[in-house]
Parts: sequence; structure tokens; C-alpha cells
Amino acid sequence: MSAQECLFCRIAGRSLPAEVVGEAEGLLAIKDRNPQAPTHLLIIPTEHIPTLADATDGHTALLGRAVQFANRLARQHQLVPSGYRLVINCGAGAGQSVWHLHFHLLGGRLLRWPPG
Ligand code: AMP
Ligand code: ZN
Repeated sequence: MSAQECLFCRIAGRSLPAEVVGEAEGLLAIKDRNPQAPTHLLIIPTEHIPTLADATDGHTALLGRAVQFANRLARQHQLVPSGYRLVINCGAGAGQSVWHLHFHLLGGRLLRWPPG
């Protein structure tokens, strides 16, 4: 899939509008357009990586930055200490619908387990 066709490549390239809430090196955070919790953000690498299973050892630093970026966003959105969830859906069987790696940051309500 080319960057022109990939939704999140277009958002990361700023050719498609989104509600941007933050930026970090190689990463963008936006509001999910169909929120599943009072706070539902998406952390998107600017590089096109289709799924988590496509990440390589070369992506280790990027993935670490994404988790720490999520931590900062969670604090900024008052999700600490109440709690938040960081989720990656990897593959169709896990519910992935956009084929560009992203982390969901969810909080602001009681999050039950298992997620289903
Ligand atoms: P997933 O099912 O894990 O691939 O998650 C994809 C997420 O992207 C869903 O929660 C959608 O609501 C969200 N989404 C899809 N298109 C957009 C968009 N244009 N702007 C913001 N969020 C989007
Ligand atoms: Zn992409």
C-alpha cells in the first residue's frame, strides 16, 4: 500500500486532517474519531509499518518512544493515577482495521478485563 492510499500515512503527512493532540520524534498523537472511552487517543508512527508483527529490531527505539509518549499523554489527560490502557491490535483476528501500526490510549472510565 502506498503512502497516498494509507489513511494514517496521510494523517501523519498532514494531507488528511485529524485532531492532533501531540507530537514526538517519529510519532503523532490524534483523537480517535470513534472514541471507545472518554479519552481515546491514537499514537501513530510517521513511518509506515503495517502491523506490530512487521516491526523489526530496528524499530525498538521507536516503540520505546511510543510507550513513553503514551505515558506523557496519559498524564496530560489526567489519566494518572486513575488508570489507562495502551493497546495494539495486531492483525484482523485482533480487530485491526487500519493497516498502519498504532497504539490506542484509552482512559477516563473503568476498563474491564478481558477486553473481548
Ligand atoms: P484498529 O481497529 O486497531 O485498526 O483501530 C483503528 C482506529 O482508527 C479505530 O479506533 C478508528 O475509530 C480509528 N480511525 C479510523 N479512521 C480515523 C480517522 N480518520 N481519524 C481518527 N481516527 C480514525
Ligand atoms: Zn501508512
